[in-house]
Amino acid sequence: MSGQHRDDREIRRSLQSCYNEPQCWKTRQECKMQTCSKCKVAIYCSTACQKTNWPVHKRMCSTIQSERDALRTADLEMILQRAATRGPAPTLLPAQLGDEFCDFMRHFHYYLFTGALNCFRVAPGRSDVAGWDTDCFFVILKRRPTGSFPPRTPTWARFRLEVACRREWACVRGYTRELPSYTEFAESRIALLEQVKQQDRDGAVLVIWIAMICYDLNTMIQAPLMKFVSPHVIRNEANVVPGAPDPEEWLMNIVQSFTAAASR
Ligand SMILES: [Zn+2]
Ligand SMILES: [Zn+2]
Repeated sequence: MSGQHRDDREIRRSLQSCYNEPQCWKTRQECKMQTCSKCKVAIYCSTACQKTNWPVHKRMCSTIQSERDALRTADLEMILQRAATRGPAPTLLPAQLGDEFCDFMRHFHYYLFTGALNCFRVAPGRSDVAGWDTDCFFVILKRRPTGSFPPRTPTWARFRLEVACRREWACVRGYTRELPSYTEFAESRIALLEQVKQQDRDGAVLVIWIAMICYDLNTMIQAPLMKFVSPHVIRNEANVVPGAPDPEEWLMNIVQSFTAAASR
């Protein structure tokens, strides 16, 4: 397994690019990035890029913020309710779940991206891709019940990957109903691709839709990862799953083996 765990800092940095896409393709490798102070998710190479991108980003930015607020409100409600019923202190709070989920995304970002990229590749060793404009890479995570993992297990290791597959965007739409601004953004990719073409640039838009289910709290958190992929990234050998014919299985194995090692 060890040869497959390619975890290159340079690749990670090259995947973190300015959100002012497709106008700007700068990555963390090329320059220092500043983070949007409101959502703390979007990154920009310059204030100019941030300003240009604001009309596109603002809806997603407010969605991220309001989801965070909703989690905090849910925390408060839960604490107040337990206090009123004099029940035991909650073992898991919604905002804590949100943090764990973010931690998982940070930890497995590179693997999710590589798995997705390879899922759209028409054949191993070939750089041409199919299905970018109609499909997405769909991932379902389940948080293991509190108490089923030893204490001090890293937060990113508390999840199991249940589903990782290429699926038609139309099929995933049912999941996304509550997140209109994310959905709109995902659907705007065709228009964005047109823009790229008009600039005489080649590239694709990769959408990874992640749904995280937690039975302890009876809740689901969703997040899309969406990025422009330059032909260079597609052709880059470092992004090819080494010797794995099935990228979905590869990703499942990665998450499983990392998680098992961390909870030992
Ligand atoms: Zn930029
Ligand atoms: Zn923002």
